[in-house]
Amino acid sequence: MKTKDSVGVARLISVHDTDDGLIVSVVTQLGDRKWSARHFGPQLEGGRITKTFRQALTYLTESFEQMFPEHHPCNDNCQTAVERLGYLNR
Ligand SMILES: [Zn+2]
Repeated sequence: MKTKDSVGVARLISVHDTDDGLIVSVVTQLGDRKWSARHFGPQLEGGRITKTFRQALTYLTESFEQMFPEHHPCNDNCQTAVERLGYLNR
């Protein structure tokens, strides 16, 4: 697969079952050193652009913990799906 073809494809999707409803977190590659990290939920939508996949994951983890500090640990309804991951070792 060419790198260009993979731009814009969702790389990671997490679903958390919180007291506020289902919160969906998505990391998507937008381009070279440009990643989108976003949260979607019934009462929130937000995110940021980062330079690496790891920074995107860190942002999602930290911002989620700030918004839902009581959500520890994840329950049985929470799920994370990750696309095939050769790029993680870059
Ligand atoms: Zn969870």
